[in-house]
Amino acid sequence: MNTKIFKINPDNPQEDKLTEASEIIKKGGIVAFPTETVYGLGANALNENAVSKIFEAKGRPSDNPLIVHVANLEQVEKLVEEIPQEAYKIMESFWPGPITIIFNKSKIVPDSITAGLPTVAIRMPNHKIALDLINKSELPIAAPSANLSGKPSPTTFKHVKEDLTGKIDAIIEGGFTGVGLESTVVDITTGIPTILRPGGITREDLMNLFSEVKMDPALHDSSAIPKSPGQKYKHYAPNAKVYVIQGMVTDIQKRIELLYNEYSLQGLKVGIMATNQTEKLYEGKLTINVGDRLNPETIASNLFKALRNFDDMKVDIILAEAIDDDGIGAAIMNRLNKSAGGNIITAKED
Ligand code: AMP
Ligand code: MG
Repeated sequence: MNTKIFKINPDNPQEDKLTEASEIIKKGGIVAFPTETVYGLGANALNENAVSKIFEAKGRPSDNPLIVHVANLEQVEKLVEEIPQEAYKIMESFWPGPITIIFNKSKIVPDSITAGLPTVAIRMPNHKIALDLINKSELPIAAPSANLSGKPSPTTFKHVKEDLTGKIDAIIEGGFTGVGLESTVVDITTGIPTILRPGGITREDLMNLFSEVKMDPALHDSSAIPKSPGQKYKHYAPNAKVYVIQGMVTDIQKRIELLYNEYSLQGLKVGIMATNQTEKLYEGKLTINVGDRLNPETIASNLFKALRNFDDMKVDIILAEAIDDDGIGAAIMNRLNKSAGGNIITAKED
């Protein structure tokens, strides 16, 4: 398949190109486009056949449901059974933005989108190209991240091109995404809002609206079954083996030095994922600085790109520093720990 590229200015999108891209969606094709979280791979959410193309192109397991992207409240009303009070509160405070709400679904939502679940995940993205594409096609657009299943999510056009060229109808090249991690997923169908996947809108943000916000137990207990099916899969994995080193920053840094030397002596190529605060301490070693510990949004924004860059450098091992697990740090550590597939080392001074 020839994959068409539309280069569109995110600040002032070219109408003609957006119209052409929306025609592809209307005809049942699949188009990758930027959002403020990561690039998404979109199809008409009401067309089973179009949706099946997304699963095929990504190699996504069919029991992993998709998020439906909307541009207005009328679209939400058609997709759900009812809009609970909790949902209105979240939508008013954070939409358009990086939070997905789980609703009881209406009959028009195809089973392939929800993987047979009685619920549907919906989000309004805060990105001009994404919103214009939805508006022009006059359809809700189902869109998971535009990467091959299992790989780190794409935050640049280059990442999408590498993974999906020849497999999808078109890619909108529209710059670097902002947040850099996928949306928060919050379930409001059970009374107390429950975070199924941490993301750009934090638990602390939601606590400003509700007296209680739960975290899905599966986020911290690997023996529990996650309510968000996607959370059970190996995810965000570069080709290299990832180790996360947690503890006090000085202990982390010392342990990483030791591990770097150990693996290098074994003839392995090692890369360190460092932060502004530690980069200089690893002088002479292969390092990518992922951002500032005092401004963890920068780390969120660069994380997936850093993992892919290490692959481009053909490293065998990535040694990644853990960061604090609060605020957006919860989402960063969720993705990093998944990319490490449980390889977490605690550094302690002895
Ligand atoms: P992605 O589109 O790759 O960002 O993944 C979407 C995430 O939303 C996955 O973790 C899905 O399991 C989750 N999700 C989608 N629909 C539902 C739903 N109805 N109930 C729970 N989680 C969902
Ligand atoms: Mg994904």
